[in-house]
Parts: sequence; C-alpha cells; structure tokens
Amino acid sequence: MSLREEPDSYIAKTGQRWKVYSVIYVFPSLVLGAVIAGQYNLFGATLEENGRYQFLAIVLAFCALVWGLVSVQCRNCGTRLLWYAMLNKNANESLGWLVSTPNCPVCKSDGSGS
Ligand SMILES: [Zn+2]
Repeated sequence: MSLREEPDSYIAKTGQRWKVYSVIYVFPSLVLGAVIAGQYNLFGATLEENGRYQFLAIVLAFCALVWGLVSVQCRNCGTRLLWYAMLNKNANESLGWLVSTPNCPVCKSDGSGS
C-alpha cells in the first residue's frame, strides 16, 4: 500500500495524521501479530490461551478501528472523515483521498480554524 500524502492535507493541518496512521497500521498489525503468534505458538501458551490472545487482539483492533472512524473529524462541522472516506470512496482510493484532501468534503473548511 502506498499513500501519496500531501503536507497541506486537511488531516495534516489539523494534527490528525497520527490517528489515521494508527488505524491503518495498528489495526492490521495487531490482528496479524496475534494470528502469527498463535500459529507458531510464540508465547509457549496453551491452545486455549492462544485462542484467547487472538480474540483479545481482534477485539482491540476492532476498537482501534471504531475509535479512528469516530475521532478523525472535521474541526468545523464534525464530519467523521475516515468514516466519510470509507463510505464515499472506493476501497482503493479512500485512504489516499483522506491523506491528501486539502478541505473538508462537506463544509469545505481548510482546517485553518476560521
Ligand atoms: Zn467540515
């Protein structure tokens, strides 16, 4: 996945980039990490414990995704931008759009706070 990020994108200007990247990277790596750890029994855990870790990781990852969807917002009108991107853009372009769009798609605010 390659994201062409714009330095003057809305999420960069409003300091929300870290949230987007947390969701993009934390969400999949948690699930992947748990699956791999369980698969190769990295913790020397029992089968039952591994299942529990995997379940926990998936729950945490899901929470991270929901948090991202809810918390990446337009400062002006409150539009949930990650949510908006997923609903209105196709899967291939939604994240690219999110990290490059210079304005809120709804109120056209540019994040300067005016
Ligand atoms: Zn807005």
